[in-house]
Amino acid sequence: MSDQPRGPVDALVVPRFAGPATFARLPRLDEVERCDVAIVGVPFDSGVTYRPGARFGPSAIRQGSRLLRPFHPEVATMPFALQQVADAGDIACNPFIINEAISQIEAGAGRLLDDCKHIIALGGDHTIALPLLRASSKKFGKLAVVHFDTHLDTWQGHFGVSYNHGTPFRRASEEGLLRLDRCVHVGVHGSIYSDQDLIQDAELGFQIVSTMDLQDRGVDEAVGRIKRRVGDAPTYVSVDIDVLDPAHAPGTGTPEAGGMSTRELLAVLRRLVDLNLVGADIVEVAPAYDHAEITAIAAAHVGYELLAMFARRSGGKTGEVPPPTVEALQAGSME
Ligand code: MN
Ligand code: MN
Repeated sequence: MSDQPRGPVDALVVPRFAGPATFARLPRLDEVERCDVAIVGVPFDSGVTYRPGARFGPSAIRQGSRLLRPFHPEVATMPFALQQVADAGDIACNPFIINEAISQIEAGAGRLLDDCKHIIALGGDHTIALPLLRASSKKFGKLAVVHFDTHLDTWQGHFGVSYNHGTPFRRASEEGLLRLDRCVHVGVHGSIYSDQDLIQDAELGFQIVSTMDLQDRGVDEAVGRIKRRVGDAPTYVSVDIDVLDPAHAPGTGTPEAGGMSTRELLAVLRRLVDLNLVGADIVEVAPAYDHAEITAIAAAHVGYELLAMFARRSGGKTGEVPPPTVEALQAGSME
């Protein structure tokens, strides 16, 4: 086997609607000799407060990823050729006992991080961010977080349950996993319980770039604020797909009107391409409420942007990335 990363199945040999059901039709983890970025499903949704169904998110996102191609022109990188990306399957976890599932997810992510440099997790509901942050901070130290979400997810708990999809960032903050001066929510919108939610959220260490900030001041200013906030700290990006408007992501568990467009979200991620990204998740895709794969395709493209961040980081900083080589171009098909 050559040192070149093994890319997706050649779409000129096996058409994109056929072939493996892995993310972007990439090889499985057991088919590669090394792994820079593992895509792993976490099909857990027992932490939701409203619509269930995100346990089917990983397979829906994989299905929505079949059209992802080798070259990303906007950020001039080749996410599958400059690094070895592989699909690590799913982390199996208890669908009835939340605390046991959280332990299983932390252990599973920890094992993956022993073998692979980085993880992008496909949820699953947002509960999974806590064990993923635990495993990531064990490897990379205290983390900056860029959290895309309609919701703050720093609530105290619901129905006496402290670990659910509305609490992962409060628990992570309390557990000392985060760089409290380096965390930001992006795309927050919709109603909350009271102004105390915002006050407590700020005390936990978060700043907010709201959807209205994006609307009023534009993507560039929002990106500037995010970059100033996180700096070059090891950064975990968590994308709750409900940050998008329900028109752009109907297939989710807690939809709120007035969210970002898919184009805005991808634009923000592209301009964050130089983040010191160390890990990420894409959560809350619930395909039973989706139409024509709108949400799954959006989530798959978010995954592609995150892979582009990793590729750019491994290849150098802005302006220093060499153009793709012929060999790199040949490593993936160019349908
Ligand atoms: Mn949310
Ligand atoms: Mn969330």
